[in-house]
Amino acid sequence: CGIVGCIGIENVVDYLIEGLKELEYRGYDSAGIAVLDNGELKTIKAVGKIKNLEDKISKVKLNKPSVGIAHTRWATHGKPTEINAHPHRGEFSAVVHNGIIENYQEIKKFLQKEGVNFLSQTDTEVIVKLFEYYYNGDEVEAFQKTLEKLDGAYAILLISEKFPKKILFAKKGSPLIVAKNENKIYFASSDAPLIGHATTAHYLEDDEWGWVDEEIHIFKGHEKLSPRFKDLPNNKES
Ligand code: GLU
Repeated sequence: CGIVGCIGIENVVDYLIEGLKELEYRGYDSAGIAVLDNGELKTIKAVGKIKNLEDKISKVKLNKPSVGIAHTRWATHGKPTEINAHPHRGEFSAVVHNGIIENYQEIKKFLQKEGVNFLSQTDTEVIVKLFEYYYNGDEVEAFQKTLEKLDGAYAILLISEKFPKKILFAKKGSPLIVAKNENKIYFASSDAPLIGHATTAHYLEDDEWGWVDEEIHIFKGHEKLSPRFKDLPNNKES
Protein backbone atom coordinates (compact mmCIF):
# COMPACT_ATOMS: atom_id res chain seq x y z
CA CYS A 1 0.00 0.00 0.00
CA GLY A 2 1.38 3.29 -1.08
CA ILE A 3 0.62 6.60 -2.73
CA VAL A 4 2.50 8.90 -5.07
CA GLY A 5 1.43 12.05 -6.85
CA CYS A 6 2.92 14.85 -8.85
CA ILE A 7 2.10 18.21 -10.43
CA GLY A 8 4.21 20.53 -12.54
CA ILE A 9 6.59 18.27 -14.45
CA GLU A 10 6.31 17.76 -18.18
CA ASN A 11 5.22 14.14 -18.08
CA VAL A 12 4.17 12.74 -14.71
CA VAL A 13 3.77 9.12 -15.83
CA ASP A 14 7.45 8.20 -15.51
CA TYR A 15 7.63 9.66 -12.03
CA LEU A 16 4.44 7.87 -10.96
CA ILE A 17 5.67 4.48 -12.16
CA GLU A 18 9.12 4.95 -10.69
CA GLY A 19 7.52 6.00 -7.39
CA LEU A 20 5.23 2.97 -7.31
CA LYS A 21 8.26 0.74 -7.84
CA GLU A 22 10.00 2.39 -4.88
CA LEU A 23 6.98 1.40 -2.78
CA GLU A 24 6.69 -2.17 -4.08
CA TYR A 25 8.58 -3.69 -1.15
CA ARG A 26 5.70 -2.72 1.14
CA GLY A 27 3.46 -5.27 -0.55
CA TYR A 28 0.39 -4.77 -2.75
CA ASP A 29 -2.15 -6.70 -4.80
CA SER A 30 -2.95 -4.16 -7.53
CA ALA A 31 -1.92 -0.73 -8.72
CA GLY A 32 -3.21 2.19 -10.75
CA ILE A 33 -2.75 5.75 -11.91
CA ALA A 34 -5.02 8.68 -12.80
CA VAL A 35 -3.77 11.61 -14.84
CA LEU A 36 -5.19 14.80 -16.28
CA ASP A 37 -4.25 14.66 -19.91
CA ASN A 38 -5.11 17.91 -21.71
CA GLY A 39 -7.80 18.37 -19.08
CA GLU A 40 -9.26 14.89 -19.54
CA LEU A 41 -9.20 12.46 -16.62
CA LYS A 42 -7.75 9.07 -17.57
CA THR A 43 -7.50 6.12 -15.18
CA ILE A 44 -5.45 2.97 -15.77
CA LYS A 45 -5.36 0.07 -13.29
CA ALA A 46 -4.08 -3.50 -13.15
CA VAL A 47 -4.05 -6.45 -10.78
CA GLY A 48 -0.65 -7.86 -9.84
CA LYS A 49 2.78 -6.42 -10.58
CA ILE A 50 3.55 -2.80 -11.51
CA LYS A 51 4.85 -4.29 -14.76
CA ASN A 52 1.24 -5.23 -15.68
CA LEU A 53 0.23 -1.64 -15.10
CA GLU A 54 3.15 -0.37 -17.18
CA ASP A 55 2.11 -2.65 -20.06
CA LYS A 56 -1.43 -1.28 -19.94
CA ILE A 57 -0.22 2.32 -19.76
CA SER A 58 2.00 1.80 -22.81
CA LYS A 59 -1.14 0.96 -24.84
CA VAL A 60 -2.97 4.18 -23.88
CA LYS A 61 -2.34 7.35 -25.85
CA LEU A 62 -1.26 10.07 -23.44
CA ASN A 63 -0.10 13.62 -24.29
CA LYS A 64 2.42 14.34 -21.52
CA PRO A 65 0.03 14.82 -18.58
CA SER A 66 1.39 17.22 -15.96
CA VAL A 67 -0.90 16.19 -13.07
CA GLY A 68 -1.23 12.66 -11.74
CA ILE A 69 -1.83 10.38 -8.76
CA ALA A 70 -0.96 6.71 -8.26
CA HIS A 71 -1.55 3.89 -5.80
CA THR A 72 -0.50 0.42 -4.78
CA ARG A 73 -3.36 -1.33 -2.98
CA TRP A 74 -3.33 -3.74 -0.07
CA ALA A 75 -7.01 -4.67 -0.02
CA THR A 76 -8.89 -4.22 3.23
CA HIS A 77 -12.46 -3.95 1.87
CA GLY A 78 -13.28 -5.76 -1.36
CA LYS A 79 -11.29 -8.44 -3.18
CA PRO A 80 -8.08 -7.60 -5.09
CA THR A 81 -9.72 -7.03 -8.49
CA GLU A 82 -9.21 -4.41 -11.17
CA ILE A 83 -12.52 -2.72 -10.28
CA ASN A 84 -11.51 -2.49 -6.62
CA ALA A 85 -8.03 -1.17 -7.48
CA HIS A 86 -7.46 2.56 -7.02
CA PRO A 87 -7.83 5.27 -8.31
CA HIS A 88 -11.60 5.30 -7.82
CA ARG A 89 -13.61 7.63 -9.99
CA GLY A 90 -16.73 9.66 -9.89
CA GLU A 91 -18.01 11.51 -12.93
CA PHE A 92 -15.18 14.04 -13.08
CA SER A 93 -12.77 13.23 -10.22
CA ALA A 94 -10.46 10.45 -9.08
CA VAL A 95 -9.12 9.52 -5.65
CA VAL A 96 -6.38 7.32 -4.18
CA HIS A 97 -6.53 6.29 -0.54
CA ASN A 98 -4.44 4.37 1.97
CA GLY A 99 -6.17 3.35 5.17
CA ILE A 100 -9.72 2.39 6.14
CA ILE A 101 -12.92 4.46 6.13
CA GLU A 102 -14.70 2.92 9.13
CA ASN A 103 -18.12 4.42 8.42
CA TYR A 104 -18.18 3.78 4.67
CA GLN A 105 -21.31 1.64 4.78
CA GLU A 106 -23.33 4.40 6.37
CA ILE A 107 -22.07 6.94 3.79
CA LYS A 108 -22.68 4.50 0.94
CA LYS A 109 -26.28 3.85 2.03
CA PHE A 110 -26.93 7.57 2.29
CA LEU A 111 -25.53 8.25 -1.19
CA GLN A 112 -27.33 5.27 -2.74
CA LYS A 113 -30.62 6.69 -1.43
CA GLU A 114 -29.66 9.93 -3.16
CA GLY A 115 -29.30 8.00 -6.42
CA VAL A 116 -25.50 7.65 -6.51
CA ASN A 117 -24.19 4.43 -8.10
CA PHE A 118 -21.22 2.44 -6.79
CA LEU A 119 -18.98 0.21 -8.87
CA SER A 120 -16.59 -1.29 -6.31
CA GLN A 121 -16.75 -3.10 -2.98
CA THR A 122 -14.18 -0.77 -1.43
CA ASP A 123 -14.53 1.65 1.44
CA THR A 124 -12.55 4.16 -0.66
CA GLU A 125 -15.17 4.79 -3.34
CA VAL A 126 -17.36 6.74 -0.88
CA ILE A 127 -14.67 9.46 -0.72
CA VAL A 128 -14.90 10.45 -4.38
CA LYS A 129 -18.68 9.95 -4.55
CA LEU A 130 -19.27 12.07 -1.46
CA PHE A 131 -16.92 14.75 -2.78
CA GLU A 132 -18.85 14.96 -6.06
CA TYR A 133 -22.17 14.94 -4.19
CA TYR A 134 -21.05 18.03 -2.25
CA TYR A 135 -19.28 19.75 -5.16
CA ASN A 136 -21.02 22.75 -6.62
CA GLY A 137 -18.17 24.85 -7.93
CA ASP A 138 -16.06 25.13 -4.78
CA GLU A 139 -13.71 22.16 -4.45
CA VAL A 140 -12.18 23.30 -1.18
CA GLU A 141 -15.58 23.51 0.50
CA ALA A 142 -16.66 20.15 -0.93
CA PHE A 143 -13.42 18.53 0.20
CA GLN A 144 -13.72 19.93 3.73
CA LYS A 145 -17.32 18.72 3.98
CA THR A 146 -16.20 15.28 2.79
CA LEU A 147 -13.37 15.05 5.32
CA GLU A 148 -15.73 16.03 8.13
CA LYS A 149 -17.86 12.96 7.37
CA LEU A 150 -15.02 10.42 7.22
CA ASP A 151 -14.19 8.28 10.25
CA GLY A 152 -11.07 6.14 10.21
CA ALA A 153 -7.58 6.42 8.80
CA TYR A 154 -6.60 7.95 5.53
CA ALA A 155 -4.00 9.41 3.28
CA ILE A 156 -5.92 10.83 0.31
CA LEU A 157 -5.09 12.50 -3.00
CA LEU A 158 -7.88 13.75 -5.27
CA ILE A 159 -7.76 15.26 -8.76
CA SER A 160 -10.54 16.44 -11.05
CA GLU A 161 -11.39 17.70 -14.52
CA LYS A 162 -13.12 20.62 -12.75
CA PHE A 163 -9.81 21.95 -11.39
CA PRO A 164 -7.15 20.45 -13.65
CA LYS A 165 -4.17 22.26 -12.09
CA LYS A 166 -4.68 21.16 -8.50
CA ILE A 167 -4.28 18.14 -6.26
CA LEU A 168 -6.31 18.02 -3.03
CA PHE A 169 -4.80 16.07 -0.14
CA ALA A 170 -5.58 14.98 3.42
CA LYS A 171 -3.88 12.90 6.09
CA LYS A 172 -5.11 11.21 9.25
CA GLY A 173 -3.60 8.03 10.64
CA SER A 174 -1.81 7.00 7.42
CA PRO A 175 1.46 8.58 6.28
CA LEU A 176 1.65 11.25 3.57
CA ILE A 177 4.44 13.64 2.59
CA VAL A 178 4.24 16.69 0.33
CA ALA A 179 7.53 17.83 -1.15
CA LYS A 180 8.84 20.24 -3.77
CA ASN A 181 11.61 21.26 -6.04
CA GLU A 182 11.06 24.78 -7.41
CA ASN A 183 7.55 24.69 -8.88
CA LYS A 184 7.36 20.90 -9.12
CA ILE A 185 5.36 19.37 -6.28
CA TYR A 186 5.41 15.71 -5.29
CA PHE A 187 3.50 13.47 -2.91
CA ALA A 188 4.44 10.11 -1.48
CA SER A 189 3.48 7.90 1.45
CA SER A 190 7.15 7.43 2.38
CA ASP A 191 10.25 9.37 1.37
CA ALA A 192 11.86 6.84 -1.02
CA PRO A 193 9.91 8.05 -4.12
CA LEU A 194 10.80 11.67 -3.34
CA ILE A 195 14.57 11.31 -3.14
CA GLY A 196 16.33 12.50 -6.27
CA HIS A 197 13.22 14.52 -7.30
CA ALA A 198 12.16 16.84 -4.50
CA THR A 199 14.63 18.86 -2.45
CA THR A 200 12.50 19.70 0.57
CA ALA A 201 9.54 18.01 2.24
CA HIS A 202 6.72 18.61 4.71
CA TYR A 203 5.77 15.46 6.63
CA LEU A 204 2.04 15.91 7.08
CA GLU A 205 0.57 15.43 10.52
CA ASP A 206 -2.86 14.05 11.36
CA ASP A 207 -5.78 16.30 10.39
CA GLU A 208 -3.67 18.32 7.97
CA TRP A 209 -5.19 18.81 4.54
CA GLY A 210 -5.01 21.25 1.68
CA TRP A 211 -4.20 21.54 -1.98
CA VAL A 212 -1.27 22.13 -4.27
CA ASP A 213 -1.17 24.15 -7.48
CA GLU A 214 2.07 26.05 -8.12
CA GLU A 215 2.39 26.19 -4.35
CA ILE A 216 1.56 24.12 -1.30
CA HIS A 217 -1.43 25.25 0.78
CA ILE A 218 -1.74 23.42 4.11
CA PHE A 219 -4.49 23.71 6.72
CA LYS A 220 -5.31 22.14 10.03
CA GLY A 221 -9.04 22.58 10.53
CA HIS A 222 -9.69 26.12 9.28
CA GLU A 223 -6.25 27.38 10.21
CA LYS A 224 -3.66 27.95 7.47
CA LEU A 225 -0.21 26.58 8.30
CA SER A 226 3.22 27.45 6.95
CA PRO A 227 4.95 24.34 5.61
CA ARG A 228 7.54 22.83 7.99
CA PHE A 229 10.09 22.08 5.28
CA LYS A 230 12.94 19.67 5.90
CA ASP A 231 15.70 19.09 3.36
CA LEU A 232 15.74 15.75 1.62
CA PRO A 233 18.99 13.98 0.66
CA ASN A 234 19.96 14.30 -3.03
CA ASN A 235 20.31 10.59 -3.57
CA LYS A 236 19.45 7.31 -1.92
CA GLU A 237 23.01 6.65 -0.76
CA SER A 238 23.38 9.76 1.39
N1 GLU B 1 -9.15 0.37 2.31
C1 GLU B 1 -8.77 0.64 0.96
C2 GLU B 1 -9.08 -0.53 0.07
O1 GLU B 1 -9.26 -1.61 0.52
C3 GLU B 1 -7.30 1.07 0.84
C4 GLU B 1 -6.33 -0.04 1.10
C5 GLU B 1 -4.86 0.43 1.07
O2 GLU B 1 -4.45 1.16 2.00
O3 GLU B 1 -4.15 0.07 0.12
O4 GLU B 1 -9.16 -0.38 -1.11
